[in-house]
Amino acid sequence: MGRRVLDQRYQDVLRELDDFQRRDFSFASGRILGSMCALPHPIAREAYIRFLETNLGDPELCPGTKAIEERFVAFLAELLHAPRTATGQIVSGGTEGNITAMWLAKQLTGKKEIVLPKSAHFSFAKIASLMSLKLVEVPLTKEFAMDVSALKKRIQSTTAGVVGVAGSTELGAVDPIPEIGEMCAEEHLFFHVDAAFGGFVIPFLRELGYDVPAFDFQCRGVSTISLDSHKMGYSAIPLGTLMIRESSWLREITVESPYISSERQTGILGTRSGAPVAAAYAVSRYLGHEGYIEVVRSCMDVTRYAQRRITGLGLSLVMEPTMNVLGVRLKRPATVVKRLSEQGWRVNKVERLSCIRIVCMPHITKQIIDEFIPVLKKTCEEVGEL
Ligand code: PLP
Repeated sequence: MGRRVLDQRYQDVLRELDDFQRRDFSFASGRILGSMCALPHPIAREAYIRFLETNLGDPELCPGTKAIEERFVAFLAELLHAPRTATGQIVSGGTEGNITAMWLAKQLTGKKEIVLPKSAHFSFAKIASLMSLKLVEVPLTKEFAMDVSALKKRIQSTTAGVVGVAGSTELGAVDPIPEIGEMCAEEHLFFHVDAAFGGFVIPFLRELGYDVPAFDFQCRGVSTISLDSHKMGYSAIPLGTLMIRESSWLREITVESPYISSERQTGILGTRSGAPVAAAYAVSRYLGHEGYIEVVRSCMDVTRYAQRRITGLGLSLVMEPTMNVLGVRLKRPATVVKRLSEQGWRVNKVERLSCIRIVCMPHITKQIIDEFIPVLKKTCEEVGEL
């Protein structure tokens, strides 16, 4: 085939991709208000492309990228006050972080029962099926946090571990991790903290003086913490990290890997891209601790503004926001979500709590909220919510 034909085909394929992409909602448009993922920081985009060909599943082929991964894990270890014995396992996101944590709990204890709050992410349903684990649900308090006295009643000799949520998917609620951790330490229970969303929010909220419970390794009894760079880490999909209190525990999730450059491989994935790792590291280096504080300060500022504008319409919130997540109480959330989507706005419905979820990610500005409010008002009036 001639050069000209190939050049033409190249352009045709790109045009075809553009046509598909135009059908997508985009973070850049500001019209996605319900997602916990972010428009990646510009430096994440740049780093991602540079490391596109790297494979951290075969680390001796990319010692430089491996070193980036180690530096990034060290950054998170410091952020989460991890002890020197700790390590981190890079994962694709919150789901894989939770799977890996539960895999560790099962291997370390030989038991198959997990006690978790009603607010736990639906990835635990997958975990139960994958690993034949039994899930024991704990009810929530009126603040939407795990009820610790109810938790105590559900602990048995068959319990493999406890899960706490630091930033719930539906409302951004935070479980009382210090109290749960104390109990787990006393009972010698594995305790996983799912901070997929809150991991890059809570440390900075606390520094800004917000009244949010501690959730990291400073809390006695915390075994593992998962946190996602592709959520409030302001980086690109797919990247999360499972931080693990004792690096020796990794033996439980390591196998021999006879035909690649390393003799052993740890965790679920085999081939895995270094691109999102380089992206997340680049964001952490560029923003630094102070930069993340500013990101969280600004997200909370927009959240408070959105709260004022929404309640100003006469709508109410399910709870006072702990972080940059708003649950707006509605009688028929699915109808409102559908109508908003038809007008080009995406928010998420939470049927269980009869609300819609709005997440003020770093790319959401007050101007976007100002554009959204009249649309929300009109929609709610049309469907009889106002
Ligand atoms: N855990 C929590 C608390 C979450 O909010 C989410 C997703 O929103 C997950 C886990 C799953 O994360 P992912 O979709 O990145 O696998």
